Amino acid sequence: MGGEELEFVKEAFATNWIAPLGPHVNAFEQALEGHVAQDKQVACLSSGTAALHLALIMAGVGPKDVVLCQSFTFAASANPIVYLGATPVFVDSEERTWNICPELLTQAIEDQLAKGKKPKAIVAVHLYGMPYDHDALEAISLTYDIPIIEDSAEAMGSTYKGKNCGGLGDYGIYSFNGNKIITTSGGGALICKTKEEKEKAVFLATQARDQAPHYQHSTIGYNYRLSNVLAGIGRGQLKVLAQRVQKRRANYAFYEEALKELSGVTFLKAAEGYFSNRWLSCILLENFEQRETLRLALESQNIESRPLWKPMHLQPAFKQEKSYVNGTSEILFKRGLCLPSGSNLTTETLNQICQIIKQTLS
Ligand SMILES: *Cc1c(COP(=O)(O)O)cnc(C)c1O
Repeated sequence: MGGEELEFVKEAFATNWIAPLGPHVNAFEQALEGHVAQDKQVACLSSGTAALHLALIMAGVGPKDVVLCQSFTFAASANPIVYLGATPVFVDSEERTWNICPELLTQAIEDQLAKGKKPKAIVAVHLYGMPYDHDALEAISLTYDIPIIEDSAEAMGSTYKGKNCGGLGDYGIYSFNGNKIITTSGGGALICKTKEEKEKAVFLATQARDQAPHYQHSTIGYNYRLSNVLAGIGRGQLKVLAQRVQKRRANYAFYEEALKELSGVTFLKAAEGYFSNRWLSCILLENFEQRETLRLALESQNIESRPLWKPMHLQPAFKQEKSYVNGTSEILFKRGLCLPSGSNLTTETLNQICQIIKQTLS
């Protein structure tokens, strides 16, 4: 926590706004609009997953529709596609950003069109905070008239060519889950282009109640709104986002400098115009064995590290789904490791971690 969160939470208690609506929710939405882009509309929700679910509904996704989804991601990017009875089709990554490969995406769209299945949406992810190639994706989206749902759960504070991640796609989402760069313990947001879209999202998120004195519903709704108490935490957290990004990037820079002499360790560099919040500091080792040796060496010193995300096309839950694969995400999964990346890591701890990495690998 940054410091001001508790004041906002106390205010929620003092004013008795303990509900999934209230002044903090409105103020947090306004603050988020100020963060992402002034021409955007933000709806605060109970999770990033809920935001993805509503984004898919807003994009018109329904049963049997095809949705193209980045394979190299966390399962929450893909699960809501299945909630809707639609079919995820997974697309592998490019080496340059680790995110959805534009060439392979085009191939997947052409192939689906040839089968008479025009995909309804593209779920693209800024994984670990590194932006995807938005210019290429936007061109594809315009060419084929397919909306982009921008999963920016890991990329608050990242920018692409000066624009904030979350505001690039037709719909964007943030997560404020406990593991993200800022948190409300649990929460999320949907970023839309128009007031009408935001109002529809809020309507769906509050059980889709029609205008009537009694309870009437013309459509199926959800209980997806953010609590006013948690929005208070969010208001405090947003004030320290810039500091958090600075610290995460400092962690990454520390590792990069300390490990630069190890030829077997490589980093994902940011291309021109790509600004990553470096939510997690990730490295690639030479092979799977070396990755595991290092992970276990760190674990033996009570230091947690983790393999990179296991691609969706390799997940048992999705093994029956179609995928367009080029081998990139499989290699990243085998050889990649997320190093300790918390916003409260001390230089001393970072030094200890790097000592162990150097001892293990040399
Ligand atoms: C965390 C995360 C989500 C889901 O957000 P929740 O708030 O945990 O539901 C979605 N996509 C990615 C890439 C994530 O890392």
